[in-house]
Amino acid sequence: MSMPTIFVSHGAPTLILQDVPARTFLASLGKQLPRPRAIVAVSAHWDTDMPAVSLARQPETIHDFYGFPDALYRLRYAAPGAPELAERVAKLTGAAHDAHRGLDHGAWVPAMLGWPAADIPIFQLSVQPAESPAHHIALGRKLGALRAEDILVMGSGSATHNLRALVRGAESEPEPWAQEFDDWLAETVEKGDEAALADYRARAPGAVEAHPTDEHFLPLHVAYGAAGPGARGRAIHRSFTLGNLSMASYAFA
Ligand code: ZN
Repeated sequence: MSMPTIFVSHGAPTLILQDVPARTFLASLGKQLPRPRAIVAVSAHWDTDMPAVSLARQPETIHDFYGFPDALYRLRYAAPGAPELAERVAKLTGAAHDAHRGLDHGAWVPAMLGWPAADIPIFQLSVQPAESPAHHIALGRKLGALRAEDILVMGSGSATHNLRALVRGAESEPEPWAQEFDDWLAETVEKGDEAALADYRARAPGAVEAHPTDEHFLPLHVAYGAAGPGARGRAIHRSFTLGNLSMASYAFA
């Protein structure tokens, strides 16, 4: 079985401390997938003008969030980097080298839950929020050869991401725009409708509310592209937290 590519919704940084269905799902990732030789994490939280990859040999755990419980800042994910593979990804994609960049929470939270032994090398490839979804599909496609080598391309963002529409406190049902966007995404991914994914802002119901900015959605385009032309996806998890924050996650093959 060839390695699928995946897109995961990483949620709020506190997800790792909470007992919610999305956390349970992420904690099952390592058992659901073939064991990867390495993980290329494409996180919404590493945003650059031009693609970049991290060559850090031992990436530090970046606590790139403010005002959260102390317990979160004590978490460290000690997986090694993969500088040689990162260099190859740089060649494949034309990405710039970053010698020092560690793992942001979009990368380490799902990795720590899914592969808690921290024994699988991991490194990041950045997203370019100023560029289009089509750019990110094309970027992913340059990673297509990795699947056959059991290297996991993991996009990490959020299936919906409108921080002004989060509902704290008691869990509540998503509003119609969030549910409609989430349903549209599941159908579109299952059809493998590349044109619709690339043009989601014009075509998807609730797109502008679901993604006031693109950066948390673009890792999905990279994961889709990396699965190769004609790829289809399937939902491997669907839930909402904080009212309107979709935690939907997909595998592409
Ligand atoms: Zn995020």
